[in-house]
Amino acid sequence: MNVLVINCGSSSLKYQLINSDTEAVLAKGLCERIGAAGSVLKHTPAGGDKVEIESPMPNHTQAIQLVINALTDANHGVVKSLDEIDAVGHRIVHGGEKFASSTIITDEVLAAIEECNDLAPLHNPANLIGINACKEIMPNVPMVAVFDTAFHQTMPEKAYLYGLPYEYYEKYKIRRYGFHGTSHDFVSARAAQILGKDRKDLKIIVCHLGNGASISAVDHGKCVDTSMGLTPLEGLIMGTRSGDLDPAIIEFIANKENLSSAEINNILNKKSGVFGLSGGVSSDFRDLSNAMDEGNALAKAALETYSYRVAKYIGSYAAAMNGVDVIAFTAGIGENDARVREMVGQYLGYLGASIDPVKNKVRGEETILSAEGDKVTVMIVPTNEELAIARETVRLV
Ligand code: AMP
Repeated sequence: MNVLVINCGSSSLKYQLINSDTEAVLAKGLCERIGAAGSVLKHTPAGGDKVEIESPMPNHTQAIQLVINALTDANHGVVKSLDEIDAVGHRIVHGGEKFASSTIITDEVLAAIEECNDLAPLHNPANLIGINACKEIMPNVPMVAVFDTAFHQTMPEKAYLYGLPYEYYEKYKIRRYGFHGTSHDFVSARAAQILGKDRKDLKIIVCHLGNGASISAVDHGKCVDTSMGLTPLEGLIMGTRSGDLDPAIIEFIANKENLSSAEINNILNKKSGVFGLSGGVSSDFRDLSNAMDEGNALAKAALETYSYRVAKYIGSYAAAMNGVDVIAFTAGIGENDARVREMVGQYLGYLGASIDPVKNKVRGEETILSAEGDKVTVMIVPTNEELAIARETVRLV
């Protein structure tokens, strides 16, 4: 069975066509800068060279059409026609309490996902556009929704309740949900596998540091806490999201700047994080690191504030689990940014963990970073949400 996995973000779209029998990736690619100037589709057929197709992508529908064209192209395609795509698996960010596991997409499911839009304003609408575009182009192909929130459903009440009047949980289901669940699940399972151990015997902290970022505590195979909350805004400082802050700041800014709550929400989601902290240098850690090297003090402060927040969460999750065996870095920054890992590593000594500077000079590879004999194993485990979604899709189809 060939499964097309779509991971539709706010300005990017990753895809993989996976043969589920062999788990081989037949082709993969990435649409970058959707909705912006200079958009490009980078398509790599298995065993072939990467093709870069520069084409305007004003929206995700256009991006998906380009992906389908690339997959069926006479030269760099990997299937003859759409008939060879048996199922589509979609990464969906927010399932609220409606979805505790993956599900086949029906009209009812689409409506239920739409009801969660306001909880993940950067992502759920883009996810839905992805589903609808696929429905249009391949109406008879079964589709599955795999939710970022599902893995975190094992959190105990003490971890998911907020210190708010309980009636808000009862009436509106205001609680911590957590996101990147597919990644936290995959990475914690893979970390154990790399170490030749059973995940059920380990206390693992997964640091998913991408443009969106979250940390989870996976205690004996089950998620017991995670840093994102009702929405992906809580927790770590991210590319453009603020992460944790004093809730009273919102009213303070509203009064000072004469802004509505929607406008503030937009600032907290799109103009904050390292982008805002650095005075607008960039949300991309490569740019921030370069700016820091050029002496930009705000870029340096942004990276230090970011790393400090990660380190504090690691400490709190070690406390939550009464110990930690493994700390795994993953996603764009976690896998690739040696400087951020090093900055976080400076805070880990008390746990009996370290990051070896020589081992740390690596990008995107499964690597053990800690020194031989360290109490805690620190490692890079590249995430593979697409493979996890393909497995779920096959299971349901
Ligand atoms: P993700 O959301 O997991 O795709 O991560 C995207 C982010 O990873 C980018 O915005 C960058 O900040 C970061 N990133 C990607 N490649 C690198 C790299 N080589 N060095 C540092 N950061 C990187």
